[in-house]
Amino acid sequence: MFSKVLVANRGEIALRVIRACQELGVKTVAVYSEADARAPHVREADEAVLVGPPPSSQSYLVGERLIEVALRTGAQAIHPGYGFLSERAWFARAVRDAGLVFIGPPAEAIDAMGSKTAARQLAISAGVPVVPGTTESVRDADEAIAIAETFGFPVLLKAAAGGGGKGMRIVRAASELADALASAKREAQNAFGDDAVYIEKYIEGPRHVEIQVLADTHGNVLHLGERECSVQRRHQKMIEEAPSVAVSPELRARMGATAVAAARAAGYVNAGTCEFLLDKDGQYYFLEMNTRIQVEHPVTELVMGLDLVQWQIRVAAGEALPFAQKDFAPRGWAMECRITSEDPSNGFLPSTGRIEYLHLPTGPGVRWDGGIESGSEVGLHYDPMLAKLIVHAPTRDLAISRMRRALRELTIDGIETSRSFHLRVMDHPDFQRGDITIQWLEQNLPALTAPATDRESIRLAAIAAALVAHEERRAGSGTATAAVMSDGSTVGHEASRSAHGPSWRDVARRESLRSL
Ligand code: ADP
Repeated sequence: MFSKVLVANRGEIALRVIRACQELGVKTVAVYSEADARAPHVREADEAVLVGPPPSSQSYLVGERLIEVALRTGAQAIHPGYGFLSERAWFARAVRDAGLVFIGPPAEAIDAMGSKTAARQLAISAGVPVVPGTTESVRDADEAIAIAETFGFPVLLKAAAGGGGKGMRIVRAASELADALASAKREAQNAFGDDAVYIEKYIEGPRHVEIQVLADTHGNVLHLGERECSVQRRHQKMIEEAPSVAVSPELRARMGATAVAAARAAGYVNAGTCEFLLDKDGQYYFLEMNTRIQVEHPVTELVMGLDLVQWQIRVAAGEALPFAQKDFAPRGWAMECRITSEDPSNGFLPSTGRIEYLHLPTGPGVRWDGGIESGSEVGLHYDPMLAKLIVHAPTRDLAISRMRRALRELTIDGIETSRSFHLRVMDHPDFQRGDITIQWLEQNLPALTAPATDRESIRLAAIAAALVAHEERRAGSGTATAAVMSDGSTVGHEASRSAHGPSWRDVARRESLRSL
């Protein structure tokens, strides 16, 4: 096993990797930008090294500097997390050339899966079903129209180098194709420095179902079942669960075998994910392989009972997987909500500022993978995902009620977050039935993101009342307190617990929970 690992990331995933290392008895080196000097991952690591100014292009993305820090601090391996350098083949190669271990797949496997068109070619040659379309980028609109007409509109234009839904355009008629192609190319050029765009049939109303794969250097390739990630906004996942209501044990075995075949064809090692679209008839199509740990890996960990990040590290250190495929069947139901610094009632506009107060949910079956704390500054330099709230319960219904309970316990003051949106999804009958496609969220956006309902107005009023009460109590006139509380005796009880009485935040939190 390694004695020291450098964690080339920030936020929740840096902390996640550091925790995995701590449990394995491995020392950690954190890297950070000037904006993250006080971030939790910096404090939790054994060592931390400043690598540059806030923009990631000058800090977290400067691979050469990260490798130099690893060499200087005596780390033997680099864990890239997700995003940033995690899927850059040149970085994996540079790490290896420096005599270090890249905790992820070989550079060749990243290359093979890195471009969507190359991945499609590889999948086809391995007998993996893909969405009808091209395996090469289209030259111009005329060619694109001719191709589209062979399988019919609507079609989807996709950036070959794509990721995060960028460079994608749905085209419903030939007359729209030229404009859509030009704008997809522009967006792809800006985002990836590569304007290659190819064309796929647009599948109406599918689910996004992905298969977790884990492979070692001894030829073992296993799949760890599926994650359902259909709750998406602008092709970005918001809520994930494992297993999927749409996947039977028989379909799981078939999709799993397909994912294993794709991984073997790419010479894959370490943790990876094959993404599929699953249509209404149970037909599935390979989309792409993500050659890294994914944001949503915890739901698989909870239902399969293993630590994927620790296995990434152990596999990278040369250990053989001690499991057989038959060891893996999902137990219970896990669900994850991405807590982002975005304002759902305002078009998911990014929200910035200082987290004044953070109260985390606890209790049975609740897991919080976060990178924030009270006092954290949330800016615009990095991804808006602050944390993941994950629950595990015996059934899907119980997972939903557990998630609702945990979301209510969660308080993040100072910035807007996606919390209220998630609560509404949990309350939605379609979601409760599991009757969801990748278009569901966009189709139901108004209902899921409308500004404060009456109940929420009551919550705000309760917070204001609690503030006034607290101020009055501090000023010595405790009598007003009971009058504004919905349950004055509880306040009295709280007050006797502490010499100074409850803080206004505690009172406001309790009042707001009660009014929900
Ligand atoms: P990215 O790498 O940018 O995330 P993907 O190929 O994974 O791009 O696609 C992102 C999302 O777009 C998928 O999860 C799915 O919701 C939707 N999507 C992709 N391809 C198709 C398709 N052919 N038909 C319908 N929806 C699609």
